Amino acid sequence: MDLTHYPRIRCGHWPTPLEPMLNLSADLGGPELWVKRDDCTGLSTGGNKTRKLEYLIADAIAKGADTVITQGATQSNHARQTAALCAKEKLTCHILLEDRTGFEDPAYRLNGNVLLDRLHGATVSSRPAGANMQAEMETFAAGLEAQGKKPYVIPGGGSNPIGALGYVNAALELTHQLNEMGLKATHLVLATGSSGTHAGLVAGLKILNSPLKVVGFGVRAPKEKQEQMVYDLACKTAAMLGHEGVVKREDVFADCNYVGAGYGLPTSAMVEAVKMLAESEGLLFDPVYTGKGLSGMIDWIRRGHFTADDTVIFLHTGGSAALFGYPETFELEGYVT
Ligand SMILES: *Cc1c(COP(=O)(O)O)cnc(C)c1O
Repeated sequence: MDLTHYPRIRCGHWPTPLEPMLNLSADLGGPELWVKRDDCTGLSTGGNKTRKLEYLIADAIAKGADTVITQGATQSNHARQTAALCAKEKLTCHILLEDRTGFEDPAYRLNGNVLLDRLHGATVSSRPAGANMQAEMETFAAGLEAQGKKPYVIPGGGSNPIGALGYVNAALELTHQLNEMGLKATHLVLATGSSGTHAGLVAGLKILNSPLKVVGFGVRAPKEKQEQMVYDLACKTAAMLGHEGVVKREDVFADCNYVGAGYGLPTSAMVEAVKMLAESEGLLFDPVYTGKGLSGMIDWIRRGHFTADDTVIFLHTGGSAALFGYPETFELEGYVT
């Protein structure tokens, strides 16, 4: 598989580490647990969008763009990483944030990722929950074109075949790491949202004929919709790379039972999972994606869906900057005396 024909800006710290979680494995008494540290990509506190943006921003520059427009929820990690790479590449960056949760807490509206978006020099404007964000971006782009600018629109989460290439590449990187370490992993677990991460991994692993099973824990859509989104994008991405038909519907699996009341809305299992990892492994996860993904993985271990014979890798997709947008969720007031 040759990815060199796609323009790429190499800005991340690669390969990201693959580390054992010995304490968590012992505490849960289940499978051998590892973490793939895509929170350590090096771009503005890191995260999975870095891999996608290496291809997306390179594509924008190759197409002559001077301006990038993207969208996400208020505490979007994708928006923050887009703002950072645009700053480095001297592109103007406009971010549209959908107010999906309606939270009024000033920390949620201004701290965390929103603070970082603005520090990187992006303009930030808000849209109401339920707005057609793709249409909002296209209207915004048309206005800029009328002023003579050359905008490039990146879909939410950077999830299209170009963005998914970043996770095809991650499948290569992880497979190489496992081979070097002689580690026989059985499952790769991740939080799945706009689908590019999950789709790129499935496409890449199938092209490599890897036996690793990918388990996505949904953070927004119901199971059928999530699996269909991932499947469609994985098929398109594989076809773009000349491997049409390699991804089968049964290669895509999502468990969407850990979303709770909705996207970005805390669950008690998420709070438990984030605290557990912070205290047992010294690792920071996030309230919107990885915390819910972990809550799913932990529940699967407790229910015996993962057994002591399994070796499970959790893909840490980043997002801990959003913790500062959710200060009250973790109920720590009593800890300082
Ligand atoms: C965006 C994001 C995800 C989900 O990735 P998708 O490619 O959108 O499915 C998971 N974790 C974090 C921290 C994210 O920011």
